[in-house]
Amino acid sequence: MVAQDHNRNRQGYFGKYGGRYVAETLIAPLDELTKAVEQVVASSDFQNEWRAYLTNYVGRPTPLTEAKRLAKTLDPTGQFLFRLFLKREDLCHTGAHKINNALGQILLAKRMGKTRIVAETGAGQHGVATATACAMLDLPCEVYMGALDVERQAPNVGRMRLLGARVIPVVAGSRTLKDAMNEALRDWVTNVATTHYCIGSAAGPHPYPTLVALFQSVIGDETHSQIHAATEGLPDGVIACVGGGSNAIGIFRPFISEPSVTLFGVEAAGHGIQTPHHAATLTLGRVGVLHGSKSYVLCDERGQIQEAHSISAGLDYPGVGPEHSHLKDAGRVTYLSATDNDALTAVSQCARAEGIILALETAHAFSRIETCARKVAQLRKRPVTMVVCLSGRGDKDLSTLLERLAPTGVLP
Ligand SMILES: *Cc1c(COP(=O)(O)O)cnc(C)c1O
Repeated sequence: MVAQDHNRNRQGYFGKYGGRYVAETLIAPLDELTKAVEQVVASSDFQNEWRAYLTNYVGRPTPLTEAKRLAKTLDPTGQFLFRLFLKREDLCHTGAHKINNALGQILLAKRMGKTRIVAETGAGQHGVATATACAMLDLPCEVYMGALDVERQAPNVGRMRLLGARVIPVVAGSRTLKDAMNEALRDWVTNVATTHYCIGSAAGPHPYPTLVALFQSVIGDETHSQIHAATEGLPDGVIACVGGGSNAIGIFRPFISEPSVTLFGVEAAGHGIQTPHHAATLTLGRVGVLHGSKSYVLCDERGQIQEAHSISAGLDYPGVGPEHSHLKDAGRVTYLSATDNDALTAVSQCARAEGIILALETAHAFSRIETCARKVAQLRKRPVTMVVCLSGRGDKDLSTLLERLAPTGVLP
């Protein structure tokens, strides 16, 4: 992509991050989309239609489940008491939060008169969500997916094809999400007149980070009223995993303006942040440009994007949304990281304690619950209430989970 900032009036910036670092040909379609966000998405007509699908098709509102056994497992002596609540995005149709955004974008594309949808996908969750919305709303769908991800997420590839979407394996680069996103952007440049590019995370050029956060804040809005109903107050801490950052920004949004709520994002540390094999963009990245916006990225001194690594395909991305970059610099959100092994341990722990098999992405957030709860309890000097975003279920990861957990002896 062309490293030139076309967004001269600073619209679409979060501090110094965001903007539109794209080829000239994409400016008009991004303007068209921005106008649609302001006029269509904001209209009560659109909101009613989208929310009706969320209720009757996706299964919203998703529950907020108190996890008493997991809290006890993490605090066996009861020295720092905390209550733990799980926001159950795993119970959305298609098994993760991605459908909230995909459905919103496909409804919008239809209203904009688009006749074809392209998307990129990592774990396959966004591809499945987009293919699902396209099937239901009768639009042809093509999904770019890194060839490595096609291999390690075979069940989701099968699902997309069954839903009628064409899955296009991308063999460039690390054969993961970043390469799939490059190809999807290339497709969009060529076919802008007829095509909507449905981005799956709060990343990309303006207005995508704003649009995706808008659709995903349904997670936070529900959590805000559910936690109030359960505890008659705000939570003390909120935790979410961060890939591109959409489930995290979605659950954070209504709490950002509440100084009494401590926010934590957890990135993938892969084999460890002391090794070259990780995806800890906010922890170790530099400011750069990737996929049309300025944010923290994993790159060398010359700005060359480096390959990320994570056991979870959905976090295996060397970039992160611009709003998270800003929230990090502003000190509003604390970003931590968790390794592949930490995530695996968290999956088996939560399965045994709560009867819920986490997606590997989600498990990164779960592996830091104890650390975060302790921090917040120390700060408040009293028992605390923590909410963690359970962004998705682990069915898609079953073969990786069994392969990696069987040799450790944790399975009966
Ligand atoms: C895609 C995915 C993620 C990471 O994406 P974000 O945009 O950072 O939310 C996290 N959890 C699950 C289950 C996913 O499918």
